[in-house]
Amino acid sequence: MKNKILGIIGGGQLGRMIALSASHLGINSHIYDPNPDSPAFDVASDIFNNEYSDIEAVKKFAKGVDVCVYEFENIPIRTAQTIEDLCPLRPSSKVLAISQDRLLEKKFLSDKAKVKTAPFYECNNIDDLKTATKYLNKSAILKTRRLGYDGKGQVRINKDSNLETIWKKVGDNQSIVEGFISFQRELSVIIARSIDADIKIYDCVENRHKNHILDETIAPAPHLKNKVQNSAEEIAIRIANELNLIGLLAVEMFEMEDGELVVNEIAPRPHNSGHWTMDGCTTSQFEQSVRAAMGWPLGSTLRNVDIVMKNLIGKEINLINTFLEDSRYKTYSYGKKEVREGRKMGHINRIIEKDSNVSKFMP
Ligand code: AMP
Repeated sequence: MKNKILGIIGGGQLGRMIALSASHLGINSHIYDPNPDSPAFDVASDIFNNEYSDIEAVKKFAKGVDVCVYEFENIPIRTAQTIEDLCPLRPSSKVLAISQDRLLEKKFLSDKAKVKTAPFYECNNIDDLKTATKYLNKSAILKTRRLGYDGKGQVRINKDSNLETIWKKVGDNQSIVEGFISFQRELSVIIARSIDADIKIYDCVENRHKNHILDETIAPAPHLKNKVQNSAEEIAIRIANELNLIGLLAVEMFEMEDGELVVNEIAPRPHNSGHWTMDGCTTSQFEQSVRAAMGWPLGSTLRNVDIVMKNLIGKEINLINTFLEDSRYKTYSYGKKEVREGRKMGHINRIIEKDSNVSKFMP
């Protein structure tokens, strides 16, 4: 019997962990990434080290796989559509197009999925910025519509801000301005939807950031009210159904003081805030994304233990040796050759002992 072949666009740590999970299901992975040092190439059965705009290479890649997934949003839509003409892309290029553009995403969330978001305005020039800032009582965030991540391409605006200077510095003729939300904490949920519209959702988790980069995820979110867990699930289901999702989707939300949830953004792929599932659930988010893409039944998302996940950013990767001998910690290194400041190098899952009341990473 010939092994099934999964195509993965993007060869970073997410692509690597998708490929490793696929291998446990007997599936081989072909990975496409222009960076010759892609960490996922180490675990691929075939690699395509070509530009995303190289349509001939993209066609060759797509013809050689049964189904294709992606590990990041900023794939040119033409590339995604080229793949989709030749093999199933899951989630679809339509979902990708929405999630890679903050304006389309916010419009979809508020107008189609009808979930609460920050107030937002399209912003294409300095006059738009001035008008939007006025509407938002001078408490806002300017964001580029595309290519922003980990707080990049964003700037906070308050009553002391000089809008002309801000626009010169980060203004892009395709931006949005959002009202600044005074949230209590950041939560996320990960949902999977199968080809038969079956749905599975992982527990809602709390995410804590340092320097705009995810530092720790606590699963489940401490002291989360049932009402909030339920509304996080309802929101995720509404979004997944409205997108006609086949695959995995992360939903990032702000929890307000009164428990109301405001959706910040969606990511149609495994997400950093789901790394805890590797040790917390029978089916990890990576395996789930492969199952959904393959058209297989979804696995259980039941959480078996409480977990705190800590990202190892830059030199923090050296911490790994400290935890190798402690059975409560499960360590992951992404095999990246160069340690750079702000670069995600690995992560550690801390299994929280039953009844220990601990919800932090360090002992
Ligand atoms: P994003 O790139 O949209 O995920 O934003 C990165 C981080 O900026 C989020 O995790 C929040 O901490 C913060 N942030 C984004 N949008 C808003 C907002 N409208 N109000 C307050 N904080 C925000």
